[in-house]
Amino acid sequence: MRKSGKKLASVMMAAAMVLSLAACSSQSTTETTPAETATEASKETTAEETTEAETEAPAEENQQADIVVIGGGGAGMTAAIQAVQDGATDVIILEKMAATGGNTTRSTGGLNAAGTSYQEDEEIEDSVELFVEDTMKGGKELNDKELVTVMAENSADAVDWVNEIGGDLSVVGMFGGASVKRIHRPSDTSAVGPMLVKTLNAKVEELGIPVLLETKAEKILTDAEGKVCGVTVTDKDGETYTIDCTAVILATGGFGANSDMVVEYKPDLAGFCTTNHGGATGDGIAMAKELGAAFVDMEQIQTHPTVNPDTQTMYTEGVRGNGAILVNKEGKRFVNELETRDVVSAAILEQTDEVCYLLFDQAVRESLAAIESYIKAGIVTEADTPEELGEAIGVDGAALAETLKTYAGYQAAGKDEEFARESMELPLDKPKYYAALCAPAIHHTMGGVKINTATEVLKEDGSVIPGLFAAGEVTGGVHGGNRLGGNAVTDIVVFGRIAGSSAESYVTSNGGHTEQEIEAEAGSEAAAPAVQGDYKDGTYEGTGKGNNGDITVEVTVEGGNIVSVTLKEHGETPGIYEAAEKGVTEAIITSQTAEVDAVSGATNTSNGIMEAVGAALAEAK
Ligand SMILES: Cc1cc2nc3c(=O)[nH]c(=O)nc-3n(C[C@H](O)[C@H](O)[C@H](O)COP(=O)(O)OP(=O)(O)OC[C@H]3O[C@@H](n4cnc5c(N)ncnc54)[C@H](O)[C@@H]3O)c2cc1C
Repeated sequence: MRKSGKKLASVMMAAAMVLSLAACSSQSTTETTPAETATEASKETTAEETTEAETEAPAEENQQADIVVIGGGGAGMTAAIQAVQDGATDVIILEKMAATGGNTTRSTGGLNAAGTSYQEDEEIEDSVELFVEDTMKGGKELNDKELVTVMAENSADAVDWVNEIGGDLSVVGMFGGASVKRIHRPSDTSAVGPMLVKTLNAKVEELGIPVLLETKAEKILTDAEGKVCGVTVTDKDGETYTIDCTAVILATGGFGANSDMVVEYKPDLAGFCTTNHGGATGDGIAMAKELGAAFVDMEQIQTHPTVNPDTQTMYTEGVRGNGAILVNKEGKRFVNELETRDVVSAAILEQTDEVCYLLFDQAVRESLAAIESYIKAGIVTEADTPEELGEAIGVDGAALAETLKTYAGYQAAGKDEEFARESMELPLDKPKYYAALCAPAIHHTMGGVKINTATEVLKEDGSVIPGLFAAGEVTGGVHGGNRLGGNAVTDIVVFGRIAGSSAESYVTSNGGHTEQEIEAEAGSEAAAPAVQGDYKDGTYEGTGKGNNGDITVEVTVEGGNIVSVTLKEHGETPGIYEAAEKGVTEAIITSQTAEVDAVSGATNTSNGIMEAVGAALAEAK
């Protein structure tokens, strides 16, 4: 059991900065500098507190946390929040850049989810099976189907979770590779990334999770048994020190901005520009490699078809999803615009000068707020007629007008005779007309560290690296040979949450909690009835429908009261169901009824447990 000492970061919720027992000391650099916390809350840290912290953490002591999350992007912040929601009190996020967000900030289109209430409201018929089928097809069946299934099964809960922590994913749209409207966006149709990062930042701050900005993780340390035990970091002053910990969540994102690494795995992409932020350099891949992690699909690197070749601005697929078409320099369509990214990118590379134009009308512009940012950036040409637009961009105006007329005919007939595009939202006949030059650019690295469905990082022999979890673009397997637009944001929320829960469970079962927390736990009351039950004593079984099939529970009644509820059989997702199991069963015992509140972000599992307990109690009346 580790012993706790003094906490350095003043904004951390309940945990204390602890003096190290030097579990990793033989492998660690021990010079410690004051941690710089980065949330708004940290800015409120007083000079007095900082001085005190410096005094209390002499240079020889390592810093310490239960869980260190490497990477303050979408997956990392989600994981940290979920870990704390599950009961962790000592979580730190490391972010090497000056701000959190990573590529997540840049994400535009949205988050794919099947079976949401928003789809139901629009009578969109979708299912986990169809989501899995589309994702596998889009990924050329290279995807790890188990991971894809877990992503799809938990996608509706992911939408609820984001909304419950203050986000806004309530509009459903069409995106490339999806059979039905599945991508969830903010209600004002603005880009998903800024909304998500703002929401996550606010929650991280609310929960008091310290974020150490401009602090780069250099190496993950392991003990003699191969268990993770710390992270070596370098802060913005160039100081190197170690944070001892029980678990690490690797959430460093992809390597789309590391051209050497991209070319190493896919030489054809030499010279391509990138849509990625500067921090997407594959650090997590390098750190995991040192620990003997296995990797999958490293050569699977996606280009996004519609990127401005001068400014590298990506035009979200939502523009095409909402109705835009693609034309070449001859003013002609050349592909089903809603095909997967690899297909559309390859088609563009066959056109004159390897570029094309995204073409749309006023109705498309009005349907998507993201378009305003492109117009504001001066990268869209506009005109009153197709002919004038053609003249402005150096394309035959008559050809452009003919293409639009033909397309309007297909749209009216509901059949695209040339390219079999299925979703044709608008006739593209409402002036003004708009054109934006595009070419493919490196966008997403599908390959990465191999994980199981609990996000544990695996070695080549299939064994886990104890204490190491990973989520988001640093991992491989979910997207296979081609990622569908909207699936990465689902990936980071679903697997970020699982990583947070799994790491917290690992810390709990490895005695990693700080002494204060353990004392608090020891003193806490077990769930006890707040009201008297009125049931026949005995043990009863009941079954309800959870997220992934039936959940069977055993309910024990003593002295008329429900005294325990145990999950006997279920197929719920590890890392998600535990929160529902704990929250719902405690609430049932406290209130002596099966009708309690569902646990946020695990609604289906919670409802399944309640239904099962209700069935069991029917026997006990
Ligand atoms: C322009 C653009 C638009 C996109 N649009 C969509 C979309 O609409 N829908 C969708 O599903 N997907 C979209 N994607 C993909 C999606 O945004 C990313 O795959 C996803 O956000 C990655 O999240 P992440 O948390 O894994 O990584 P990131 O968000 O990139 O976060 C990783 C963080 O780790 C930090 N880091 C890296 N190394 C270290 C280190 N050594 N120490 C400390 N910190 C480190 C990085 O600086 C970064 O902040 C888009 C991507 C781009 C580039």
